Amino acid sequence: MELLKERIRRDGKIKAGNVLKVDSFLNHQMDTDLFQEIGKEFKRRFADAEINKILTIEASGIGIACVVAQQFHVPVVFAKKNQTKNIAGDVYTSKVESYTHGRTYDIIVAKEFLGAGDKVLLIDDFLANGKALEGLAALVQASGAELVGAGIVIEKGFQVGGDAIRASGIRLESLAIVDSMDEESGTITFRDDEA
Ligand code: 5GP
Repeated sequence: MELLKERIRRDGKIKAGNVLKVDSFLNHQMDTDLFQEIGKEFKRRFADAEINKILTIEASGIGIACVVAQQFHVPVVFAKKNQTKNIAGDVYTSKVESYTHGRTYDIIVAKEFLGAGDKVLLIDDFLANGKALEGLAALVQASGAELVGAGIVIEKGFQVGGDAIRASGIRLESLAIVDSMDEESGTITFRDDEA
């Protein structure tokens, strides 16, 4: 998605540990015009798919998931990062190892909002090592719902997540795949770039 790549080139900041900061338009301040275009692009890429629910993970996936959901006219469910020790009630749970925070946490979804008969599209902002998507896919599987695919705004193609997710048979659409980023020069290359 050229508009997105241009924006990443212009406003993305490369941080230590291969972290790409996009706080000015995606992760903190959110550019809602860009979000609309992102929503339309996911709709175009999954136009052939039957989807009745979008599943994402709090917090940064929620905004994106909502604009995608508006295109499909379906609800969004976001997995909650569980803070408390005792998981209350009827929930599905799985574990996610956080790339940016360096710890493992439980994610939960109430059984009443996900189950057999649902056709689910996963949406998230970033794909790095694939742990967040794997955790969400595990929730879908536990619920008996059907996993239709996964949509990612920015995939870091030099980390293992994309290959692992594709190898597992999940249909993955990433709007921008970063192939390399150089902290010193600030140069970012994308997978579709010529030369
Ligand atoms: P994964 O589970 O694929 O290793 O990491 C995905 C999650 O970590 C995303 O939900 C995202 O919040 C966060 N993340 C991973 N890498 C980056 C990055 O380079 N920049 C930002 N802003 N978030 C990242």
